[in-house]
Amino acid sequence: MSHLNETHDPSLKSWVSSANEADNGFPIQNLPYGVFREKGSSEPFRIGVAIGNKVLDLTTLAGLQPWSGKAAEALEACKAGKLNTLMALGSTHWSALRLELSRALRQGSSLQATLEPLLVERSAVEHDVPAQIGDYTDFYISIHHATAVGKQFRPDNPLLPNYKWVPIGYHGRASTIGVSGQTFPRPVGQTRPAGEGAAPNFGPCQRLDYELELGIFVGTGNAQGQRIDIDDAESHVFGLCLLNDWSARDIQAWEYQPLGPFLSKNFASTISPWIVTLEALAPFREPFKRPEGDPQPLPYLHSEANSAAGAFGVELEVLMTTEQSRRQGVEPARLSTSNFRDAYWSVAQLLAHHTVNGCMLQPGDMLGTGTLSGPAEGAQASLLELTTNGQRPITLPWGEQRTFLEDHDEIILRARCSKSGYPTISLGECAGTVLPAI
Ligand code: MN
Repeated sequence: MSHLNETHDPSLKSWVSSANEADNGFPIQNLPYGVFREKGSSEPFRIGVAIGNKVLDLTTLAGLQPWSGKAAEALEACKAGKLNTLMALGSTHWSALRLELSRALRQGSSLQATLEPLLVERSAVEHDVPAQIGDYTDFYISIHHATAVGKQFRPDNPLLPNYKWVPIGYHGRASTIGVSGQTFPRPVGQTRPAGEGAAPNFGPCQRLDYELELGIFVGTGNAQGQRIDIDDAESHVFGLCLLNDWSARDIQAWEYQPLGPFLSKNFASTISPWIVTLEALAPFREPFKRPEGDPQPLPYLHSEANSAAGAFGVELEVLMTTEQSRRQGVEPARLSTSNFRDAYWSVAQLLAHHTVNGCMLQPGDMLGTGTLSGPAEGAQASLLELTTNGQRPITLPWGEQRTFLEDHDEIILRARCSKSGYPTISLGECAGTVLPAI
């Protein structure tokens, strides 16, 4: 089975010259979707596709009706200010639109003169959350993260017995999901008292953390009571973005039993503005494998296609700036690097599991992967792991130390897919800054 088509041809070049620059990240093979408007304006947001250093305005292009058939129907859905209508159309429509966009943006296209006036500089726009997110679920699919965190609480038995059988998750909150550039006040709440039986403390969170994750946007949903089969699951997925699941560890430690995270997670979550489609990620598919000796997934979580190509090689990194580093004008510090390929569960398995009981997913729903830590040293994708729950401070290149986040600290997540002979596909950037508690 091949997931590749003419839009993945690595030799394709665009008449948008910046798209052809090595490592631009937004070549003609990428074509991610987002919503944008002129920076600082109060215009309604429009749907756009990123190409090189530009954004192509699809909302305006839709009015010009350049295409017919499914691509025209998909483009018509881009007249909205959010991607949900396009998401609901389904994968054949998404592919048809991608194919026409690829052809129209290629060198020599007869549509160049039509499209040129609809380009704006990416640096001149601001974004909103690209879809109306009805529901948000956060999973826990890095066994390296789960083991490292488990070790802190249960040194002899770090991984709970369900981990290798059930994709663990909890229902999060969509209302406080914001787009890159988001700022938020340090959360305030109850934290664990020092002595047995003591009353809890109340005040600003002292152990504020980030979590490097990917967000999986659901395209087409399912009716309540009807499960999504694993073989069909990927056709329901619109694409991926970066996600920072900001976490108040001290609030979490006190509140999480017995129903899981609540106020420790729902004060802010930040995503990157561009959704890279699953189709654009096809060249970076990899076999999905279980380590030797681990249980194989139950039948509803197993398929030949998933085993053959259900994982994705996505390189991830976390960077940090502080008030001091920005004042000094020094480069952001790199805190970790990891890869999505090291996750214990695949995208298809998450959808199959989420709906196996008949739970309904809807266009624009987002599934978080959970913290994507890797097996190696330097691949710990949260401060909880990097500092062993605050016991071992890290020293930043400009001399400051951190156990957890301080006010005005900024976390920047980045992701890219690269391999020899193929243009680099960027997922862009997801930045957010902690403000003082109010
Ligand atoms: Mn999380």
